[in-house]
Amino acid sequence: MNSNYLNNANTKSALKTSMDYHLRCSLCKETPSKDCRDLFLATAFSLRDRMTERILETERIYQVAKAKRVYYLSMEFLIGRLLGDTLHNLGLFDLCREVLEETGIDIEEVRDQEKDAGLGNGGLGRLAACFLDSMATLNLAGFGYGIHYEYGLFKQEVDNGYQKEKPDNWLAEFSPWEIKRPDEKCIVPIYGRIEHFQDRAGEYNPMWLDWKVIMGIPFDIPVVGYGGKTVNWLRLYGAGSSTDFDIQIFNEGDYFRAVEQKVSSETITKMLYPLDTLKSGKELRLVQEYFLVACSLRDIVRRYLKEHDDFDDFPDSVAIQMNDTHPSLAVAELMRLLVDEYALPWDEAWEMTRKTLSYTNHTILSEALEKWPVNLLEQVIPRHLQIIYEINARFLKQVADLHPDNLDLVRRMSLIEEGENKMVRMSHLAMVGSHSINGVSALHTEILKKNNFADFHVLWPERFVNVTNGITQRRWLLKANPQLAQLISETIGDSWITDLGQLKRLESYAESEDFQDRFRRIKRTNKEVLGRIISRTAWVSVNPDSLFDVHVKRIHEYKRQLLKIFHIIYEYLQIVRGEKTPTVAKTYIFAGKAAPGYWVAKQMIKLIHNVGQVINSDKRLQDILRVVFLPDYRVSLAEKIIPAADLSEQISMAGTEASGTGNMKFMLNGALTVGTLDGANVEMLEEAGEENIFIFGLKAGEIEEMQRGNTYRPTEYYRSYPEIRMVIDAFRDNIFCPSEPGLFQWIYSRILHEEDPYFHLPDLLSYIRIQDKIEEEYQSQASWTKKAILNVARSGKFSSDRAISEYAGLIWKADAVKCGE
Ligand SMILES: *Cc1c(COP(=O)(O)O)cnc(C)c1O
Repeated sequence: MNSNYLNNANTKSALKTSMDYHLRCSLCKETPSKDCRDLFLATAFSLRDRMTERILETERIYQVAKAKRVYYLSMEFLIGRLLGDTLHNLGLFDLCREVLEETGIDIEEVRDQEKDAGLGNGGLGRLAACFLDSMATLNLAGFGYGIHYEYGLFKQEVDNGYQKEKPDNWLAEFSPWEIKRPDEKCIVPIYGRIEHFQDRAGEYNPMWLDWKVIMGIPFDIPVVGYGGKTVNWLRLYGAGSSTDFDIQIFNEGDYFRAVEQKVSSETITKMLYPLDTLKSGKELRLVQEYFLVACSLRDIVRRYLKEHDDFDDFPDSVAIQMNDTHPSLAVAELMRLLVDEYALPWDEAWEMTRKTLSYTNHTILSEALEKWPVNLLEQVIPRHLQIIYEINARFLKQVADLHPDNLDLVRRMSLIEEGENKMVRMSHLAMVGSHSINGVSALHTEILKKNNFADFHVLWPERFVNVTNGITQRRWLLKANPQLAQLISETIGDSWITDLGQLKRLESYAESEDFQDRFRRIKRTNKEVLGRIISRTAWVSVNPDSLFDVHVKRIHEYKRQLLKIFHIIYEYLQIVRGEKTPTVAKTYIFAGKAAPGYWVAKQMIKLIHNVGQVINSDKRLQDILRVVFLPDYRVSLAEKIIPAADLSEQISMAGTEASGTGNMKFMLNGALTVGTLDGANVEMLEEAGEENIFIFGLKAGEIEEMQRGNTYRPTEYYRSYPEIRMVIDAFRDNIFCPSEPGLFQWIYSRILHEEDPYFHLPDLLSYIRIQDKIEEEYQSQASWTKKAILNVARSGKFSSDRAISEYAGLIWKADAVKCGE
């Protein structure tokens, strides 16, 4: 049903016409334009036209097919830029480049105008964004629900080595992708109190009274699958104040209160909490989580009821995935909707809820497991707290019936943690209310079953499944590394773009001299490009022939940036003390943000900076070592760094990284990995083969044993090994802070005398050994390149297409719907 008022054909002239149209009619600018910002907007609008047509078409097809709809609820979507991806997925990249070229404009300059949509912290949010791409590409009726944060993750600046946070006002010049839909707004009640009534039949019928309201206003971002046929959407809710409500206050004559109310409603979606694997405990964050759940469930139920008269088909028509516990109030909110608003009996509502919801766990770090004080819930969402208590009472009765004399088990499994300040355990709420609970790598799921959620696993073994994370090759190879993508397509065809397993066919080229040569040249070009970014943003010049050793991700103790620094310090001291003759020039590249209140993480940035200053200014190491910290790690920067990496650092303490997805992006782009047996590294080893990956360090089980027996003594390592002593003493001796003595003393004391919960010292020697091996192997270019090619060839498993197929088959029971013409 193509409309004829716009020519949305995929031809150069049609594209040019629509860009000119938008330059003049949407932006009121002269044509032809040479302004890259205007050209970016005009291009984006032209693509949006094409996508909105297909959104309508896709929706029509879903309705005819009675497609099961999948909703991915996530507090974070780390989208990054959309222009390049959208052009590729619509098949318009080359046409668009030519159109721009004709006016003398480089498409890269136009793409650089786009601000990253940084509506997430790191891996969890980026996963959600990759999943949207895969759902649309696999023709699943899969949609995202998230929050329309006015400010995304902060911008990072580095001043004298110290992180400075700057607000990320990504909407300052507005986003051309989103479609505001105020006509589909919803009203969300919050605060207030419960009155305990009985209905006419004498049944208990509580009433939630005196609540305030927040308006949820949807903003839709089209999500186009590869090939441009299926276009789904991501719906982001922004908070506003209800006009009705304002008027009510207005009538009381309290103008200022009305304005205040309006301001405080709008505050709710003001900013993303910048906490990765840490919980906030702030009331506003709880309100955000509730707001997401309340808006999306209303929308989901409304859409369902347009096509149904009752809820009988609800679990067969709808699947809702909770991305971590952040949206786990969905359990209580869906129950509330069904019981209070649609008058379903409790048992029926409970069955619907459980059959519809499923939960993905992303972390086993205790500091990240969400708990909220009961008295805060009572204040913010009193009715939901009541429902949670009711769910808990029924659940604990079930547990007690099965294990009559095990009070301890009942206490452990309860949704409520007893104590002076009672807390609601959100992971328990999510598990009890879901038919499926999944971890995000094989190792992580096993740890969940064995440790954190063991009691639940014994009760419901069938609910636990693993779905190893993945990444979309459309963004992380096709777009981020166009030359490598081109080489691969020339060699084995382009079916890998939607079937990453096809990369296997590259194996037979791994030893081809010609292929190796081209592969190496591409890596070299990418390194030059990154080198220019480094000199522009970190003010250090680097040698593109050096080994690019890259550690980029959020800064966190468990990810062990400190272990990498220990090794760099060791290497530096060895060289300057004449105990090592370097054979390979190396560039150590770091990037990552620290949570603003996380002192240790911020100190790591300062330390990297200072180590860099000492090493980079040491004449003896001029052509040998470089240490750089690239500020403001974000998706668009990752797309530049990863294709240029030779070595990928994935060195978290075993048993702490749930999966990792950065590791997969590097493998796909032909970097070799040095890593611990943690998260998905375990599966990368299985896929790549042990001769193509550098694994070191203690295993999760070994660490667990040392923790349980409390047998780890940092001072013993310090006394026994001169290598370790040398590194640790450098902090005592102010080698990296000569003008500020004592600055890094805390590292010396903390590691030796306080605690080293992330086992840096026990892994340091094997890390140094494996780095020596890496240095040796890098000298043989042919064998290194062969390994790099084999890594690419064997990365097929780590496509988010594979992950989404598993979710669709195992958890959602949703089928693909063909949206072709
Ligand atoms: C992929 C990605 C991450 C996650 O990286 P990990 O190494 O898995 O922690 C974080 N931030 C950005 C910008 C990413 O692209």
